[in-house]
Amino acid sequence: MILVTGGSGLVGKHLKDVLPDAVYISSRDFDLMDINAVDNMMDFFKPKVVVHLAARVGNLIDNMTYPVEYLEQNITMSSNVLRKCHEYNVERVISMLSTCIYPDVVETYPMTEKDLFNGPPPPTNFSYGIAKRCTATHIDSYVKQFNKKWSYMIPCNLYGEYDKYGEHHSHFVSALIKKIYESDETLSLWGSGTPLRQYMYGGDLARVIKYVIENDINENLNVAPKEVYTIRQMAEIGKKACGKDNLKLEFDKNKPDGQFRKDVDSSKLLNILEDFKFTTLDDGIKKVYDNFSKRHNR
Ligand code: NAP
Repeated sequence: MILVTGGSGLVGKHLKDVLPDAVYISSRDFDLMDINAVDNMMDFFKPKVVVHLAARVGNLIDNMTYPVEYLEQNITMSSNVLRKCHEYNVERVISMLSTCIYPDVVETYPMTEKDLFNGPPPPTNFSYGIAKRCTATHIDSYVKQFNKKWSYMIPCNLYGEYDKYGEHHSHFVSALIKKIYESDETLSLWGSGTPLRQYMYGGDLARVIKYVIENDINENLNVAPKEVYTIRQMAEIGKKACGKDNLKLEFDKNKPDGQFRKDVDSSKLLNILEDFKFTTLDDGIKKVYDNFSKRHNR
């Protein structure tokens, strides 16, 4: 059986849409901070495959305000899960990292999987970056020492219908969609509008995870569409996709920008999934905006 941690999160819910027969766990079922709870979970389900999605995830401000929590929670949860996966002989483990954990700056972009340890992560999410790099090292070590078929994926920024819209947790696209929905004349955004980003629809990552499980792929893979946009371009695409082209764009340059760029190269993935098509940003944003406005029915 397939066990998915973080089943109540954005990625977990998208995965459930395409892989409904797996078991999806949230913190209410088992607290992964507690090694005994993880042991009970493994003992109860005895999974063959574990997709480890659970993590402390949040936006720039949350990362900057709670670096201790980002470090401790992500290291502890991941370490507990991997140790118990070893003890219970789990055949496949797929763990989610993030492109936010790549070096702050490298010489050439887009970054490949080989760049992961090629410099320190950005100061704005340093703790998250180091914690996730520990997961990468932990998995690499199990592969080296015990010849495990375990791996990790490194997805870019995500968005989707299941994202959180709370102040401290929502990611850029969800926050943008909410702002567009609530704005009548001006769309006011943080920073300079110049940082470059890749964005992926959560359902696309779910399709990749399903493929990797079903086809027994054990490679560590970047997962991101090729296109890179500035924040300003994103806002323009967002306004259009949401039918609010009239909004005037404003940037508050006193607020932080975060990392300038972190675009990654997914050619390793696309050599394996040759015909894979990512959802375009226009289509994805439209889909999420329609879902958001239906729920909020303004
Ligand atoms: P999310 O929506 O914030 O969901 C986090 C999940 O982790 C929830 O299911 C949560 O359960 C669970 N969790 C947190 N603390 C837990 C604990 N102590 N015990 C058990 N479960 C716990 O996160 P996501 O966006 O789906 O992210 C999934 C993975 O993808 C993460 O590893 C993240 O680093 C990675 N990723 C995300 C993005 C992105 O933009 N969202 C980008 C790249 C990579 P509760 O609901 O019960 O709290």
